[in-house]
Amino acid sequence: MKIILIGIQGAGKSTQGNLLSKALNIPYLSTGHIFRELAKEKTPEGRYIKETINAGFLIPDEKTLQIVSEYLHRKEYEKGYILDGFPRTIAQAEAFENGINKVIYLRVSDKEALWRLSGRDDEREDDTLKAIRKRIEVFHRFTEPVLEHYNHKGVLVEIDGEQSIEDIQKEILEKIK
Ligand code: AMP
Repeated sequence: MKIILIGIQGAGKSTQGNLLSKALNIPYLSTGHIFRELAKEKTPEGRYIKETINAGFLIPDEKTLQIVSEYLHRKEYEKGYILDGFPRTIAQAEAFENGINKVIYLRVSDKEALWRLSGRDDEREDDTLKAIRKRIEVFHRFTEPVLEHYNHKGVLVEIDGEQSIEDIQKEILEKIK
């Protein structure tokens, strides 16, 4: 089973992604996590990625597609995966037609997301208020059209992400059956 999780930062994608991964026994992969690891490298590419994510911008599509395809060719992702944070642009979605079964949109308001992120204890280096606002803006501009793309394909499932973690998990499991 191939599942994509979409939502603004703070929507609960990694929480739900990890729970789903356990429940369905499918590996979880987050492009944000991959990029944060690459940003630690003391190379021009590492520094470029670090600056880009810290500013709340997107990594260019070509680079992102190259990295995602490199990962997904690994044996562990052969039978399926839960992908968090990709695709984030129409260009990425169009280049990545990989037999996706379901795209789960965890919907939370900008206000709720900002509220949740401001109270997070595992605060990340790219979590400045300015970067968070930029990422929310980037989501509306570049990622919302991706929802429409998958809606047309009939694979989009929309979930109210402002419920409890348990209720969200239950609803996801029901809707992907
Ligand atoms: P996330 O943990 O998903 O919020 O991702 C953190 C950062 O990694 C984002 O703000 C982007 O700079 C970068 N990133 C993650 N996924 C993508 C993607 N699919 N396309 C471009 N940039 C990405």
